[in-house]
Amino acid sequence: MTEEKRTTGSIIAETELYGAHNYHPKRVVISSAEGAVVTDPEGRRYYDMLSAYSALNFGHRHPEIVAAAKEQLDRVTLTSRAFHNELLGKFCKKLCELTGKECVLPMNTGAEAVETALKAARRWGVMEKGIADGEQEIICCDGNFHGRTVTVISMSTDETARKAFGPFTPGFRVVEYGKAAAIADAVTANTAAVILEPVQGEAGIIVPPEGYLKEVREICTRNNVLMIADEVQTGFARTGDMFACMHEGVTPDIYVLGKALGGGIMPVSAVVADRDVLGLFEPGSHGSTFGGNPLACAVALKAMEILVRDDYPATARRKGEKFVAALREIRNPEIVDIRGRGLLVGVEFSVPAAPYVERLIENGILAKETHERTVRFAPPVNISDAELDDALQRIKRALTR
Ligand SMILES: *Cc1c(COP(=O)(O)O)cnc(C)c1O
Repeated sequence: MTEEKRTTGSIIAETELYGAHNYHPKRVVISSAEGAVVTDPEGRRYYDMLSAYSALNFGHRHPEIVAAAKEQLDRVTLTSRAFHNELLGKFCKKLCELTGKECVLPMNTGAEAVETALKAARRWGVMEKGIADGEQEIICCDGNFHGRTVTVISMSTDETARKAFGPFTPGFRVVEYGKAAAIADAVTANTAAVILEPVQGEAGIIVPPEGYLKEVREICTRNNVLMIADEVQTGFARTGDMFACMHEGVTPDIYVLGKALGGGIMPVSAVVADRDVLGLFEPGSHGSTFGGNPLACAVALKAMEILVRDDYPATARRKGEKFVAALREIRNPEIVDIRGRGLLVGVEFSVPAAPYVERLIENGILAKETHERTVRFAPPVNISDAELDDALQRIKRALTR
């Protein structure tokens, strides 16, 4: 029997035929990858400038993280939380050290971690603040992206994400992002928490005005309201600090973490807070079959070790400055804004960005538009300087008019 030749075209056709169309991927198949470079079935090579929405901060198949995973594959991969495993405690301890918090609740995906944080905040509202159960309110921001579950999209202001998915979970108040006064105005006696992204990724790399996070922190403290930072995309060095809240010296009450925590290998997420919040979960009140599994812990532990040892935050800051400086040299009147923090960079056009994304792909650069007119650039933090220089030359060529 002859094996049919697998091409980009045939692979995409098969995927579209049998898979749900809840995504509209660019017509590139990634067959293999190493570091910042991916290869398609025809042998074309591209720089990965999306990094799976920051899940690949360590690049593809970081050798030390792969080695940690392989070692753990040969020991034990899954225990469920019905029993203990050797690595969960170590994982939680390390994450507490990184965040300065007391306690970790492990989950798998970002959306699950957001759900967990919302549950924690609602419990805290009742058990600590004295709000009547069912009356708790959580303030969120317009343009937010916190994931795809029904409760999480109940916070969304993106009609595509909500259409025909109702009824929605009540208890949310949406306010304008970047305006601390809007939060202060929305606080009531029933407010348990404010949830926000320190930089809005999916909304188009929206960097809030300087001082915003600090003001939100003060409003939360003054009103006895929990500040929840969804750092699923911004956390772990992406924005040039270990966590994006640190840019303003702010410590949220609850960190929601995911994406890069899985080292580019598997989904690992977590909610991190102090005992007065996470201590409100008693046995049976919440959980996850795969959350905190030893394979996930092994991978995340190695990822966190590398982050600190190789000073990823400083690296992201330095390369981010270089990135933005290079983008600013591009002559193109259709570019209306270049913004970002660290290695999370957005280029906004006055026209739809999709044709520019096609030109980037033709020049060996994988990126994707977000919200039609903005292209997000988020290369692996450990991309080499030579690769970054080459990628920037290609980006300049693709985006010049
Ligand atoms: C990606 C993302 C999520 C959801 O993570 P999943 O792992 O896709 O569920 C939540 N919040 C933010 C800020 C994100 O970028």
